[in-house]
Amino acid sequence: MTGRTITPQEMEQPQGLSLPIDLVQGLVDAVDEAFLVSDRAGTLLLANGKARKHLATRGFSQPLGLNLFSNVLCVDAGEVFSQIEGGQHEVKMILELGEAKYRVRMRWMPDSDWLVVQLAEQVAAGDPGTHPTVQELLQEREITYRNLLAAYLKLQEVNRQKTVFLASAAHELKTPLAVIKGYYDLLLTGSLGKLTEKQRDILEESKDSCERLVRLVSMFLNYSALESGKLVLQLRDNDLRDCLEELTKRWSEAFQRKGVRLEATFDPSIPTFRFDYQKVQQAAANLLDNSLKHTPAGGSVTLCAGPHFWERRVAAAAPSSERRRFRLPRPNSVEVSVADSGPGIPAEHHQEIFEDFVRVDRNTSGMGLGLAIAKRLIQAHRGKIWVESEPNAGSKFTFLLPMDQS
Ligand code: ADP
Repeated sequence: MTGRTITPQEMEQPQGLSLPIDLVQGLVDAVDEAFLVSDRAGTLLLANGKARKHLATRGFSQPLGLNLFSNVLCVDAGEVFSQIEGGQHEVKMILELGEAKYRVRMRWMPDSDWLVVQLAEQVAAGDPGTHPTVQELLQEREITYRNLLAAYLKLQEVNRQKTVFLASAAHELKTPLAVIKGYYDLLLTGSLGKLTEKQRDILEESKDSCERLVRLVSMFLNYSALESGKLVLQLRDNDLRDCLEELTKRWSEAFQRKGVRLEATFDPSIPTFRFDYQKVQQAAANLLDNSLKHTPAGGSVTLCAGPHFWERRVAAAAPSSERRRFRLPRPNSVEVSVADSGPGIPAEHHQEIFEDFVRVDRNTSGMGLGLAIAKRLIQAHRGKIWVESEPNAGSKFTFLLPMDQS
């Protein structure tokens, strides 16, 4: 937009109008609603009779040449234009001038580079004249809705860009971390020279930290893959006991090292059924990781799996008095749980810990993603996950997997 400024003198003979100025003034005075016209800098170019009257009550007997923003509206011009340039052609506000309140509506006329301002005085409360019409309310609602939607879409896009950026940064960390871990392993074998007890301890500790970093990076990469909609299940007939036994073996050394007992009980009657082996293993691994992290040395963790009768409640079910419980002929799902003797979780956090980046315990490392990822993976199987826990009484995380995955 070009910022051509029209002087008050020029306004007396508006460009392109060949009508006598008296006639123009007479016409605008005939408009029942007070209105003012200013240029982009806020210099008042025109005021109709009603607007002049309002301004006269405020001591402005000669309004032309006054500044709309600083003298009349007392608002920041930058704010008004940022809304206009943000795509809003109409800016509304409530203005208090002394005792009176005005509904102000500003419209930008891009062709002439003018701002047209309507002032509607709000009379005493309770007067029907103060109430906006239904159409005005609907318009206002529509504008608010559009603005909110635009802001929401913008936020979503920024959020997506942030996730993509962090994911590529995390990806870049993967290779150097793998190299560092490889060298720790090599040094610990002793093939590059005999290690003293002290050197071995330091290397073991460094390797643990490196592994923790690898877990954080891969946790974040899993999350960003899920976020960008890349969650595709590889459903095959699998044995859940194999899946969990493999996991138990992988984790047993870490449990031993910390001095936490790990017990695993898998019901032999669990049939093979369709599920994504890696993703279910990942969900259970996140629960085991948490239980190990939060259970102090000397404590215990139990991983259990068994068949389950899952009667889903339907939202549109008949009233409770008429609701019948149908007995299922055989288990239709599998229940997997991880129970620990750790510090427990207060009830007020039971829901939020499954949300992205929510962490309650600040004394342990993590990104607040383990449970959020587990929840997404289980829900992708049409299953559900929850926690039962009380402070100082341990925690039990459970998920259900339906066996009829199609
Ligand atoms: P992170 O472990 O990275 O913090 P999670 O999503 O796995 O993220 O867990 C979220 C929060 O839930 C943790 O910060 C912790 O406070 C709590 N939590 C999860 N598992 C346990 C557990 N077994 N015992 C106690 N608190 C837990």
